Amino acid sequence: MRTTQVGRFQVTALRDARFALDGGAMFGVVPRVLWEQLTPVNDDHTIPLSTTPFLVQDGTCTIVIEPGLGRRWPDKQRAMFHIDSSGGHDLLDSLHAVGVAPEEVTHCLMTHCHWDHIGAACGEDGTPIFPSAEYWTPQSERDACMNPDHLRRASYRREDLAPVEEGGQLYTFAGEGEVLPGVRMVEVGGHSDGVSLVILEDNGQAACFWADVVPTRNHVNLPFIMAYDMNAEKSFEVRSEWIARAADEGWTCLLYHDPDEPIGRFVGDGRKYAWEALSSA
Ligand SMILES: [Zn+2]
Repeated sequence: MRTTQVGRFQVTALRDARFALDGGAMFGVVPRVLWEQLTPVNDDHTIPLSTTPFLVQDGTCTIVIEPGLGRRWPDKQRAMFHIDSSGGHDLLDSLHAVGVAPEEVTHCLMTHCHWDHIGAACGEDGTPIFPSAEYWTPQSERDACMNPDHLRRASYRREDLAPVEEGGQLYTFAGEGEVLPGVRMVEVGGHSDGVSLVILEDNGQAACFWADVVPTRNHVNLPFIMAYDMNAEKSFEVRSEWIARAADEGWTCLLYHDPDEPIGRFVGDGRKYAWEALSSA
């Protein structure tokens, strides 16, 4: 399992599903002649992706960032999105592999409520998968998920979140949420109404979980914005600000959808940025 240390936090890349989305949609305005040099492409024009939740432990708290896509999918979606949970690609299996029981998870941070991020918030019996955890998400994402309008309906499933709220386990915030000292969620928007970054800071070191602001290592270049993003101009602003900060300050970067290299750093000069994988990752 791929692990790194950030101040007092031990950060481990877990495994949820492998899946695939349309390559054109993943790269927005970038022409295929450019993006097909960066990634394998399946016969149906999809590209391989993963869902990678991260485990953060400091001896006191046990945090899961993004529960994952989960197993509650009918055959139609399973086939369309190439959803594959075999070979340990399952949140609970990969937690078990590092010796963490679901009851021990104290916090589950959900950057936004799209189905590929919180499909595993509840288990196959429909109840929250972490019975003792505080589940955190922006209020704007909670609202979009519980009552999605026509434009948002394809991206949210109410049943992923409703049992968490009904069980009294949902914690929401607007703007910035301080989950614990050194662990905060910053609502940035762009990709979705309230997509947020998770920032870990301790002892002069920092890490950022990028959610869909930077989904894979091939999305570090500033104009590489997904066609799924609700507000591309806002995404460009957010990415310009935060990618620069992460590169300047040498933050550890945690990527959710990259199938091969979930942990690394951004390097660049203010205009152009690239990805540097963590050698031990
Ligand atoms: Zn996503």
